Amino acid sequence: TGEPEGILVRTSSKYAPDAKNTDRIPATLLALVRNSEVDDMVASMNDLERTWNHKFNYPWTFFNDEPFSDEFIKKTSAATKAKCNYEVIPDEHWAVPSWIDKDMFDASAAVLEKNGVQYARMMSYHQMCRWNSGMFYKHPALKDVRYYWRVEPKVHFFCDVDYDVFRYMHDNNKTYGFTITLYDDPKTLPTLWPETAKFLADHPTYLKENNAVKWVTDSERRPEHNLNAQGFSTCHFWTNFEVADMEFWRSQVYDDYFNHLDKAGGFFYERWGDAPVHSIAVGLFEDKSKIHWFRDIGYQHIPFFNCPNSPKCKGCVTGRLTDGEPFLHREDCRPNWFKYAHMD
Ligand code: GDP
Ligand code: MN
Repeated sequence: TGEPEGILVRTSSKYAPDAKNTDRIPATLLALVRNSEVDDMVASMNDLERTWNHKFNYPWTFFNDEPFSDEFIKKTSAATKAKCNYEVIPDEHWAVPSWIDKDMFDASAAVLEKNGVQYARMMSYHQMCRWNSGMFYKHPALKDVRYYWRVEPKVHFFCDVDYDVFRYMHDNNKTYGFTITLYDDPKTLPTLWPETAKFLADHPTYLKENNAVKWVTDSERRPEHNLNAQGFSTCHFWTNFEVADMEFWRSQVYDDYFNHLDKAGGFFYERWGDAPVHSIAVGLFEDKSKIHWFRDIGYQHIPFFNCPNSPKCKGCVTGRLTDGEPFLHREDCRPNWFKYAHMD
């Protein structure tokens, strides 16, 4: 078409926000967020647009359990050249399931609270964890979308990333990408592993070859966690950052697993997070070579960092998991991932 061949020109036209014959693959940046968090959302967008997305212009898709405000739409759409989609979550995806008993929820919350579990009584937090575990990828707005990058308000990105992260996932046959792994509080999920074990007993063929079960169940560094969590190490991918292929969540195997957990009630009677649920599922039902550590993506969600040692990164300190209390360093379980599951 007589278009100049310069790299910059080609890159910018290939990834122009409105390009028709684009190289982009079906993917979106994805955020569940409240109207009240708009300024923190814009701060996250500014970081990710500056370090990565202004080069690729992947669309943003925002989800909310109520309609987005005009202010939210105005401020977020001004933070990117890319297309923004604003989606309300259908009631059948967000509502507390009919089989959850309110009195039992209150009674369980009292026990969790006594054990120091944060957000125990906050129903919307439980709904959020369930939605992130087994609902978001069923939203009609994502019907033709395959990969997503999850972004929360008030997170930070520190490093220039010059390649198309979604294309990397696709071309290297990766299912799941993470930056940080942490131990969970076993008191939030005492029956998650027993329920998983029941599910495995019913579906022995679902275990994937070359899985990461040794990582999921290892007890080396925090044996007391293993005891309290009944066999689960509690080491999980920290899902507030997550780049993944929704075909995995949309598979029969994951659908059956999520439905089993949902019926068991632990999203409400305990406080199962989407992080341990996603991590166990990927660890058991996917080939571990399809799980990727994005060591080059500098990231922070308070209080933890992933900070690469690279001139491409600005504003974080290399070699530290946290600026917070020293005991927080003990939460890091990346060494277990490398030891038991994957040594890149
Ligand atoms: P934490 O990181 O575990 O402390 O949980 P957050 O409070 O950060 O919540 C996780 C994500 O879900 C954030 O992006 C929130 O904006 C979002 N979120 C949590 N609860 C709700 C809710 O009830 N409605 C909406 N729209 N977003 C929520
Ligand atoms: Mn958060």
